[in-house]
Amino acid sequence: MENEVVESKNFIEQIIEKDLAEGVYDTVVTRFPPEPNGYLHIGHAKSILLNYGLAKKYGGKFNMRFDDTNPTKEKEEFVESIKADIKWLGADWEDRLFFASDYFHVMYEAAVKLIKKGKAYVCDLSADEIREYRGTLKEPGKNSPYRDRSVEENLDLFERMKNGEFKDGEKVLRAKIDMSSPNINMRDPIIYRVAHMTHHRTGDEWCIYPMYDFAHPIEDATEGVTHSICTLEFEDHRPLYDWVVRELEYEKPPKQIEFSKLYLTNVVTGKRYIKKLVEDGIVDGWDDARLVSIAALRRRGFTPESIKMFVDLVGVSKSQSSVDYAMLEYCIREDLKVKKPRMMAVLDPIKLIIDNYPEDKVEYLDVENNQENPELGTRKVPFCKELYIDREDFMENPPKKYFRLFPGNEVRLMHGYFVKCESFVKDENGKVTEIHCTYDPETKCGTGFTGRKVKGTIHWVSARHAVQAEVRLYENIVDEEKGKLDEDGNLNLNPNSLTVLKNCMLEENLANAKPEDKFQFVRQGYFCVDLKDSTEDHLVFNRIVSLKSSFKLPKND
Ligand code: ATP
Ligand code: MG
Repeated sequence: MENEVVESKNFIEQIIEKDLAEGVYDTVVTRFPPEPNGYLHIGHAKSILLNYGLAKKYGGKFNMRFDDTNPTKEKEEFVESIKADIKWLGADWEDRLFFASDYFHVMYEAAVKLIKKGKAYVCDLSADEIREYRGTLKEPGKNSPYRDRSVEENLDLFERMKNGEFKDGEKVLRAKIDMSSPNINMRDPIIYRVAHMTHHRTGDEWCIYPMYDFAHPIEDATEGVTHSICTLEFEDHRPLYDWVVRELEYEKPPKQIEFSKLYLTNVVTGKRYIKKLVEDGIVDGWDDARLVSIAALRRRGFTPESIKMFVDLVGVSKSQSSVDYAMLEYCIREDLKVKKPRMMAVLDPIKLIIDNYPEDKVEYLDVENNQENPELGTRKVPFCKELYIDREDFMENPPKKYFRLFPGNEVRLMHGYFVKCESFVKDENGKVTEIHCTYDPETKCGTGFTGRKVKGTIHWVSARHAVQAEVRLYENIVDEEKGKLDEDGNLNLNPNSLTVLKNCMLEENLANAKPEDKFQFVRQGYFCVDLKDSTEDHLVFNRIVSLKSSFKLPKND
């Protein structure tokens, strides 16, 4: 083939292909296991699309599972938002929506099995004592005095733990592994604790709850997960994961694979920081368009396709690094470039009056929706005597190389005529309020006019037909170069992260734009109708991204 594409496989794909080739597994089952304790963000999107993508690529299955083993933090509200976000991203769990809490009985039985094998014991040490006995990275731990309890005694005590006979913290169940292991996670980790708490799904049925490191491998194994993909902080926990599935004697035990977390520059992802921004009223919620929760990205106008492109570009690896936010912007531009129509919108309007144009005349100009994509067709744009143009497209005393409007200069009105600036009007504060022009009827766009040339083309909107709208412009909420945090550990916020323009004038074709509709506004960028605040009577547009970028895709040839 002429354009042979050599596909490079990431390290997880290599592991999977080896496993399939060697018959370790005959299918691929992955999962996404969020704790329902917050909103998902761009990092989670990476994990979701990675897991879903691998299942699809190898003809396997992708499970959705809420890791709700910890009753204190979980909230029903998050369950719904997480489901909505994952659906929107396009990861389909079909009929496999699971809750770890559905396996509490399985986990209980697993613990009993370990006790019977002499691999788990009930320990009466307090939390402080357990910490003391655990040792340090340099020193081995000490055995608990309860370590050698008989199987019968352990079974009896564990059952009584379950029956609610003990107070929180009075007793725990621990795996019996090795108190002198160099890996502290293996020093007889706690696998069950007493907690008299109400769970969002199981209510008061249980007063003992399994610990994450014990529960997670059981959840995976119960669902037949083959490759349990997680982030690097769990690398040190893998020996325990392997110990659990080995001691429980699963036939085809799942295997844990770690990759590095995705970090983005110039954004805030930490829950603690976002919570404070919300509480301080700096952002208008977890889905504020300046944040990178999935809900926020959606509201800003990012598409699932652009996020997919982004995580594919970032790739998967085990090395930690931050990705430039500009790369995400690059992806949304690429996605929308040929898909969306290019409309005219004036963000900071100033009146332009064509003195020699008939008072009541309206011309409907034929305009191509997207010069790069004829399939998007054409539309009619009204042209009249009174127009709006952007304030920055006129200067009374222009510097050199300013090719837009100034007294005596001629420009093209995009898709329309040449106009020449004859005069202008100022108010008592010296602010320009009106620009007067004359137009040349011979210069109509598309008529093959070959006379003189002009250097500038500006966009405009017919004043009589204009639709008024609010437009929100964004900058990064923090500036990485100035340091994300100040001396006091507070976020170094960019005071200009949001600019609200209340009096923008859009071409009339935008009057019926619906929430989440996306457009290019020529010369201004890509915009999306706000999901929350936009109404029929009051259109609100978010700028997703401007047109220009400093970001260049690294060349690999
Ligand atoms: P955070 O504290 O950032 O909200 P978390 O790890 O507490 O994240 P979980 O709900 O436990 O959130 O995570 C669900 C899955 O998403 C886990 O498999 C986790 O490894 C993965 N994940 C979390 N953050 C990232 C990230 N920044 N990049 C890639 N994957 C991530
Ligand atoms: Mg977590």
